[in-house]
This record gives sequence, structure tokens and C-alpha cells, in this order.
Amino acid sequence: MDLKSAALKIQEEIVRWRRDLHRIPELSFELQRTSQYLRQQLDRMGIPWKLCAKTGIVALIQGGSPGPTIALRADMDALEIREETGLPFAAEGSCMHACGHDAHMAMLLGAAKIISAYRNKLKGNVKLIFQPAEEAEGGAEPMIREGCLENPQVDAILALHIGHLFPEVGLGQIGVSYGPVMAASSIFSVIVKGKSAHVGTPHTGVDALSAAAEMILSLQKIVSLELEPGTPAAVTVTQIKGGKALNALCDEVSFIGDIRTVSKGDERFIKQRINEICRGIAEANRCEAKIELIKDFPAVVNDETFTEEFVKSAAKIVGEQNIVELKKPSLGNDDMAYFLEKVPGTYFFLGSYNSGKGPLYPHHHPKFDLDESVLWIGSSVFARTVFDYLEGQAKV
Ligand SMILES: [Zn+2]
Ligand SMILES: [Zn+2]
Repeated sequence: MDLKSAALKIQEEIVRWRRDLHRIPELSFELQRTSQYLRQQLDRMGIPWKLCAKTGIVALIQGGSPGPTIALRADMDALEIREETGLPFAAEGSCMHACGHDAHMAMLLGAAKIISAYRNKLKGNVKLIFQPAEEAEGGAEPMIREGCLENPQVDAILALHIGHLFPEVGLGQIGVSYGPVMAASSIFSVIVKGKSAHVGTPHTGVDALSAAAEMILSLQKIVSLELEPGTPAAVTVTQIKGGKALNALCDEVSFIGDIRTVSKGDERFIKQRINEICRGIAEANRCEAKIELIKDFPAVVNDETFTEEFVKSAAKIVGEQNIVELKKPSLGNDDMAYFLEKVPGTYFFLGSYNSGKGPLYPHHHPKFDLDESVLWIGSSVFARTVFDYLEGQAKV
């Protein structure tokens, strides 16, 4: 089974899928056209599917002999960004695939086509998970709740992100980490309550605004002064609301912030310090502070053992010299985390920035683009890993 040649043979088709999907960007769970397009392609390949979490799709390739089930996941949604690439297949309207999820879907279709051509040789099953709302409220959790990891039960999972999220991963190279690869994110809110008064008689009131300002600046010291230098972590206040009159003390300010960490210990420590700092400053200013955690998103953590095997499979496609161990986790977040909390697996990165083809525009930029010449790599690394994994499990 030469899966590298098999993928190279369908490279043009993968590019066509990517371009077709690029033209029809949609948001969140409202991916009707995208979902329909994918289902048509799966029908053509004779792969049965089910809808899950509104427009998400779970498809199953059953192998020639029974065995475990490995899942391949691609996210499907675009962003509310007006495209400025000028590409002949650029999207019209106010949405754009500016993160590469169009390529993720195309590469997963490519893998599906290759794998189903050899399905008799499969010693188990392959589940294809097309997931909505990665950029929005998250589609992984609802898909899991609706049973996408059951019937048959998924034993391992693999997914990739294309682009230039890690600068050390060059064009066509595979970036991988054996543990945490993307950060956990926690959203918190603080409400500071004071007492309004005329600005001419401030001593009769309590100014919530200056207390909130002190808190926001002090929160910056947690990462810069209380964590060991170089620790991957960030605390950022992203929203603030407060104040009504031009000539009165502000009696209430609320602000919202985001904590990024890659270790549970750092996450606990930062949450505790936010509490202590805000309460302490509130007390010193005769205010009250109500601190609440709004939502926790887990970190994306690769399984070490699965990843070691994945790297061997990927090296068969791109060569060992093109496997790059990531220097440190990204402080971005991805709801692939929820799948990896349930089943062991790997989230890897495929470099697609070609410096010879123009300047670098980052993900979520209206001119973001990728070099399509690498798309076959994603499909063949998926396929190679699937066959190696199922073969390996059959021997155990
Ligand atoms: Zn994105
Ligand atoms: Zn993305």
C-alpha cells in the first residue's frame, strides 16, 4: 500500500474540494451548504454518515476485519471576516475561511477516499468527524454529548491544523508535541461595587472605577512577577464597562478577562491570585468585589504513547527530517481538547506558509492564505497513521 502515491494522485481533487469549500464559508453551527457539500462527497465514496450537532457529520468506514476504531477530525467553520485575498475562488460576502478549516475538510475527504479504497485491508474502523463551531462556542462538546465517540466506541483520535501557528514548522513539515500543545483558557469576570457621589465631594462616595483600574494593572503582575520567567501563561482583561455621569463617581465597574495556561498548577495559582488581588484592592478602596469564573476550556494535550507511534507513521510520508518537535505550546485554544480528554490521540500541525509566494498574513487575517501544494501530505499522514495504528493494535 503506497499511501503517499495514492494521496499525490488525488492532490488535484483535494485542491478542488478546498477551493469549493473556500467559496462557501459559513459560521458556527449554521454550516448548511458546507455540510451538504461534504455529505455529497461522502455519498460518492459510498461512506455512510449521520448528522451530529446540527450540521456536524459523523461518517464511518468499516474495515474488512473487526478491530478498534480510530477517529479523524476536521473543523468546518469560517470567520466573520471579509476576504481580501483576491484569489479567483475567494468568498463573496462577509465571511471567510481565514483559518484553514476549508483545507482541513478537504484533507479529511482525501484521507477518506484513500482509506475507503483500501477498506478491505483495514483491521478495524475509521470514524470521520466533521465538527462545527470551532471558532464560535465550540462544537466538540455537543458532538460528544450526542454520541459521536460511541457506536462504535472510538479508541484513538487524530486531527491537524494547517498554517503557520508555529513558526518553526516550515512548508510541508509536521509539527508535533508529546504533551500539552495548546493552552487551557478560563474566562473570569469581576464586578466592583462602590458608591456614587458628586465629583466635587468624592469623600462622600466610593469610586469603583479607580479601584477597578488598580485591579486590572495589578493582574498584569501575576505573569510578569509571580510565575517563573518563560512560563507559558497569559492573563488579559478584554472587556470593561462602567460609569454613567460626567460629573459623578462611578459606583459600579465590571470587567472580563481570559487566563491562558498549559499546566493545571499554573491555572489554579492564577485563579487564586486573581481572587486575592481583586479582594485585597477592593478592601483597600472600601469597595466590594465579586469575582466569578464564567467558563473553563481545557488545554489540548497529546497522548505521549500515541504520539510516538504517530511520529513513526508521519515520518514514512514526509521523512524524519521534516518532523519538528514544537518548542513550546501555543497559548491559542482549540476544542479538539474535548476529544483528547476522552480518548488518546494527537493534534499535529502542517506547515503551509511558502515564503516564495508572498508576505505572511497570520490566521484570521483577511489576506490569510495557504500553499495548497501541501494538502496531499495531510491526507496521506492521516491514512498512514490509521493503517499503522489498526495494524499495531491487531498485533497486541
Ligand atoms: Zn482560527
Ligand atoms: Zn483554526
